[in-house]
Amino acid sequence: MDARHELAELVRLTVRAVAQQKDNGIESVRLPDDLTALFTDPRAVTPPAASPAPRSDATSLQALYDANCTCTKCPLGHTRRHFVFGSGNEHAEVMFIGEAPGAEEDAQGLPFVGAAGQLLTKILEAIKFNRDEVYIANIVKCRPPNNREPRPEEMAACEPILREQIRLIQPKLICALGRVAGQALLRTTAPLGRLRGTFHDYHGIKVLVTYHPAALLRDPSLKRPTWEDVQKLRREYDQLMEFTTKAQRT
Ligand code: SF4
Repeated sequence: MDARHELAELVRLTVRAVAQQKDNGIESVRLPDDLTALFTDPRAVTPPAASPAPRSDATSLQALYDANCTCTKCPLGHTRRHFVFGSGNEHAEVMFIGEAPGAEEDAQGLPFVGAAGQLLTKILEAIKFNRDEVYIANIVKCRPPNNREPRPEEMAACEPILREQIRLIQPKLICALGRVAGQALLRTTAPLGRLRGTFHDYHGIKVLVTYHPAALLRDPSLKRPTWEDVQKLRREYDQLMEFTTKAQRT
C-alpha cells in the first residue's frame, strides 16, 4: 500500500470512528475536498491544506463540526488524536464550558469523559441535571500536549468555534469550569476568586464561574464552594424557567 492509499485508509478509519460517536450527536463527517479527492482521483497528491477559518454562517452544530473537524489553525491541531467538539443537547438551556480536552477526551473525541468528567457528571446529577439535557464543551477543541494550559493564541484561534456553538445552542446559562475557561469567556485576567459567586454577562447570557472538577480532585476542600456555586446556578435556572413558563402563558 503506497503512502497515498495509507492516508486514505487512515482517513476512512477516522471518519468511521467519529461517525460512531452517537453521544456527540454527529451523524456524518464531511471531508475537505482535497482529502475527498484521494478516494476518487488517483492523481490527487496535494497534502491537506490548513482548514479555513471557522464559518460564521453554520446553521447547525453538524455543519459547524463539518467545517472545523480537520482544523489546524493552531499547533494543537497537529498533535491531537481527536478534535473534541462537544456533546449533549443541541437545544440545551445550560452549557458547561471547560478549558481543554485531556488525554481520555483526546482518545475518545468526547469532552469530560476522564476522572474529572465523571466528577462533573456527579455534580450535574446533584443539581438534578443529566448530561443529555445540558451541553458540554471546552474553550479549545484539541488537547494541549502534556495537559498544559492552552496558550492565549491557541484560545484566540479556537474562540470562533465556541462562539458559534453558543450562537447555535442559545443557552440561557453558561457555567465556566475553572479560571482559564472563565477568563477566556469573559475576556478578563481577574483571578478565579473574584470571578466566582456572581453572574457575569456573555453577549446577553448569564455566566457563572466555578472551579474545574479536576481542581476538586486535587483539592477536596474546593468541593464546598463549588457546591454553593452550582446550587446558585440551579436556582437561577429554576427562576429563568419559571419566568419563561409564565411568559408563555400570557
Ligand atoms: S485547538 Fe481549535 S484552533 Fe487549534 S487546531 Fe484545534 S480546533 Fe483548530
